[in-house]
Amino acid sequence: MKPPAFRYHRPATVGDALAVLAEVGSDGKVLAGGQSLVPVLNMRLAAPGHLVDINRLRDLAYVRVAPGAVRVGALARHADVERDAAAFEALPLLRQATENVAHPAIRNRGTTVGSLTHADPAAELPAVLALLAGSVTLATVSGRRDVPAAEFFVGPLESAVRPGELAVEATFPVPPPRTGTAWLEISRRRGDYAVCGAGVLVTLDSDGRVAAARGAYVSVGPTPVVVDLTGAVAGHPGDAADWSAAGALAASTVRPEDDIHASAAYRRHLVSVLTARAAKVAVSRLAVSRA
Ligand SMILES: Cc1cc2nc3c(=O)[nH]c(=O)nc-3n(C[C@H](O)[C@H](O)[C@H](O)COP(=O)(O)OP(=O)(O)OC[C@H]3O[C@@H](n4cnc5c(N)ncnc54)[C@H](O)[C@@H]3O)c2cc1C
Repeated sequence: MKPPAFRYHRPATVGDALAVLAEVGSDGKVLAGGQSLVPVLNMRLAAPGHLVDINRLRDLAYVRVAPGAVRVGALARHADVERDAAAFEALPLLRQATENVAHPAIRNRGTTVGSLTHADPAAELPAVLALLAGSVTLATVSGRRDVPAAEFFVGPLESAVRPGELAVEATFPVPPPRTGTAWLEISRRRGDYAVCGAGVLVTLDSDGRVAAARGAYVSVGPTPVVVDLTGAVAGHPGDAADWSAAGALAASTVRPEDDIHASAAYRRHLVSVLTARAAKVAVSRLAVSRA
């Protein structure tokens, strides 16, 4: 199928892009990597009158490690984030999660910020942003606003981006020292959207005991689901904590639904199992980095 007719804009500067977006308002859509938008147009699930292609906005093609955070510009591709050595050093979870996004060809073109704004509840990066309590910076002709992850993901395929706004940057905060992370997921084939995915973050105190633990889950709710796991394991040595209790806590919190891919009970089971496995991996990575 072909998309409905639209007017194509290819601004050369962020200012020009914002001016076009202001003019076209709710009849406009930003085109970034096109990996989600083009199928949506071809299937005629959306019919915007204007597409605003941001691929010339090279100023937004960056991955920057700032004090306490990794900042990702709107034109950074998944592959840029995945391969960035400094970002991996500061925040390994970004690569751990991104290497599960689709296939290399899609990661070469699709953008991390585009994935956030697309707000697919099965997508990895929205869950990572939620787990880290990050934010997205939205710009218009009249100014900018930072929207925290907890307010950014509104529903399935629905983010807080308003007509006329361009998401210019995502901020992924770096967790405290002695924090290990892991991303694990189950999909029918490698590269498919996950039936369930879990990102887990474990912070140990100076004695190696669990000070904090959190999980974030995909494909088990209308938006990414974050669960504080600390209560199940606080104070126990990281390498001997009962991580299955943390898994049980997460499974009792999420509210998945049955669909054609899996039953709610199976997804809840995966939440439990993936939480325990990912937490152990996160702790083992900490042990390696301290050795
Ligand atoms: C076969 C296939 C498998 C995939 N598997 C996965 C997967 O396993 N996990 C996963 O996370 N993703 C997956 N994806 C999606 C992929 O990650 C996309 O790259 C991503 O969802 C959207 O990024 P994009 O840059 O291509 O955005 P586009 O497709 O260009 O845009 C997506 C939406 O976001 C809006 N948008 C984009 N950028 C901005 C911006 N800067 N400001 C405001 N609005 C903006 C667009 O208007 C549109 O509504 C898959 C895609 C395909 C085709």
